[in-house]
Amino acid sequence: MGVTAYIGLGTNLGDTRANLRQALESLRAKPGIEVRRVASFYRTEPQGYPDQDWFLNTVAGVETGLRPLGLLSALQGVEAALGRVRSLRWGPRVIDLDLLLYGEERINSPVLTVPHPRLMERAFVLVPLAELEPDLELAPGVRAAELAARLAGEQAVERVE
Ligand code: ATP
Ligand code: MG
Ligand code: MG
Repeated sequence: MGVTAYIGLGTNLGDTRANLRQALESLRAKPGIEVRRVASFYRTEPQGYPDQDWFLNTVAGVETGLRPLGLLSALQGVEAALGRVRSLRWGPRVIDLDLLLYGEERINSPVLTVPHPRLMERAFVLVPLAELEPDLELAPGVRAAELAARLAGEQAVERVE
């Protein structure tokens, strides 16, 4: 059907496991998006603002016929459906869906940067991504699995299911 993309999901408010499941259900229901694979769920230490609850994170591998901006608005539709209210950047949230990778494309527009600009520094993204795609080359000579292992030594990430 189209392009392989990776979506990072995270939540630290309410029933976090239910939030991830609902977000995945809602993503599956979107026309033009086929959810192919979902990584394990991971409990992760908050980055940015330490004084908030731990997050539950995962990554979904999807196949999509949508263009990048169409995919971004579908992700924002899922966030809205789950009742996300925008407040503090990097603060507590019921759900966050970020577009990590869209095929091999590089995008720099005012509303969308792909690959996600903070992808390479976040264990909570790289550990689930590397579970799905260990051999993905994120930069010349940088395999997802190696970078994930390195970051997991600095940021707490625990597989829960
Ligand atoms: P971070 O980007 O550090 O993960 P965040 O996910 O908390 O922070 P949001 O409040 O969810 O940030 O999004 C802020 C804006 O980021 C969105 O309105 C969107 O236009 C923009 N954005 C740019 N690139 C991306 C991307 N790859 N995926 C999702 N949103 C993006
Ligand atoms: Mg985010
Ligand atoms: Mg976001």
